Amino acid sequence: MIECDLLIVGAGPAGLAAAKASREISNKEVYVLERDVIAGGILNQCIHDGFGLIRYRETLTGPEYAARAADEAINGGAHVLTSRHVFDLKHNGKFDNVVSAYTANGIEQYRAKTVIFSTGCRERTRGNISIPGSRPAGIFTAGVAQNLINIRNIMIGKKVVILGSGDIGLIMARRLSLEGAEVKAIAEIMKEPMGLARNVSQCVLDFGIPLYVSTTVSRIIGKKRLEAVELSKVDETGQPIPGTDRIIECDALILSVGLIPENEVVHNAGVNLANNNSAKTDCFLQTNLEGVFSCGNSRRVMDLADYVSEQGEIAGRNAVHLIDSEAMEKWNEEKTNCMKKGFPEKDSVTCPICPNGCQIKWNDKTQEFSGNKCSRGEEFARQEKKAPTRTVTTTVRVNNIAGGLRPVKTNKPIRKEEVRDLVNKLKEISISDITESGEIVFTYSGVEKVDIVTTS
Ligand SMILES: Cc1cc2nc3c(=O)[nH]c(=O)nc-3n(C[C@H](O)[C@H](O)[C@H](O)COP(=O)(O)OP(=O)(O)OC[C@H]3O[C@@H](n4cnc5c(N)ncnc54)[C@H](O)[C@@H]3O)c2cc1C
Ligand code: SF4
Repeated sequence: MIECDLLIVGAGPAGLAAAKASREISNKEVYVLERDVIAGGILNQCIHDGFGLIRYRETLTGPEYAARAADEAINGGAHVLTSRHVFDLKHNGKFDNVVSAYTANGIEQYRAKTVIFSTGCRERTRGNISIPGSRPAGIFTAGVAQNLINIRNIMIGKKVVILGSGDIGLIMARRLSLEGAEVKAIAEIMKEPMGLARNVSQCVLDFGIPLYVSTTVSRIIGKKRLEAVELSKVDETGQPIPGTDRIIECDALILSVGLIPENEVVHNAGVNLANNNSAKTDCFLQTNLEGVFSCGNSRRVMDLADYVSEQGEIAGRNAVHLIDSEAMEKWNEEKTNCMKKGFPEKDSVTCPICPNGCQIKWNDKTQEFSGNKCSRGEEFARQEKKAPTRTVTTTVRVNNIAGGLRPVKTNKPIRKEEVRDLVNKLKEISISDITESGEIVFTYSGVEKVDIVTTS
């Protein structure tokens, strides 16, 4: 049995930030247990950029953000242990928690004064939303599709329909399109897209992908493999309206229909959950079991990893405060959903530089921009008007690992119309060795020369 002050379950951005923050204010013995083979959580497969705008004031890809968070926790002195699947928590009273984990060498047990669960969430599946029709192959959740394409180098189909317009669905629409699939439609049951306006703009409108609101998949068609889906308009209650259906041929359907917090272990230990499976806590992020905290997406699904990390830090510090009988910090529930969601406003550009997502308009008469809260937005809008540019994130093959891929990005934005050409060129190359993050693997000669660098 390993004794420690704080045991954190889950090494995603929440757990890693909790570890870092707890070590910043104390020299407590802190362990982080992660079931995956690397730390970083779901962000390791989110190879696109846009992370870290608040926390690090720069735009990072998911793997870059994850690596930075892991480095901070480890350099701070926390023990981050991977390949450990926590399956049990016994809360025996204040400062007495026993956590059990499966490892390759058998079961490990930890006695911890305090415990933080930051176990993230899983995706809702077809079973959760009950789509009528047959049961062919070719139906994936967005996260599974993301993992197959970004990590395992497996393409999931040629003609794709996406159900759900949350950020994961929108980002997958762009990724699939760049990988050569035809994204035939995104269907959204609500009246507005659910993702951020910047993602609607840069992942959907940039690629001319049709996005139908107040629409759902009302039937799945196909025997062995998916052959088509039926889309229908929905009424106010979300029910398909008879007579509005049309058939869209496709060989893959991606479901991006919400996340379910992962809380089975804490629930079995006696932690109260809300109806949506999230762990209930007080404003100090402590559950009904004293000394057992919850943070990140297992507590409540949040839009931005940056806020997840911020919340993780508070949980980490509060665990230390509880042990040291100090006052705990409050988490402000209000601050997490400030970004502009839905369709961008007409004739405006969405500034992607910070979470405000300002809608910036050009006025021909006054020859001025409006709607931007700072000069960086004006700079972006001016460039959009003149010649839009985009940072490109994709993967390159590693030829000494079967199915191996390395995430990469351009080290500066390139012209929007060059994006597809660059991605196609990168499909033709492969790199022979495992490289360091930030290493140049290719130089693209477009309007300007741009280096392509690895990001993990
Ligand atoms: C498919 C998908 C794509 C996403 N894309 C984005 C995006 O592009 N941008 C964005 O801002 N947000 C995205 N999100 C939201 C994302 O979940 C959060 O931004 C952030 O990663 C949440 O951090 P977390 O630490 O709470 O959870 P996670 O990152 O999910 O980390 C939880 C960790 O806990 C581990 N774990 C779970 N159970 C156990 C156990 N029993 N024992 C040991 N370890 C365990 C998991 O393996 C995982 O590593 C995405 C979410 C999903 C599901
Ligand atoms: S204009 Fe300024 S405040 Fe508004 S989104 Fe852009 S960077 Fe943020």
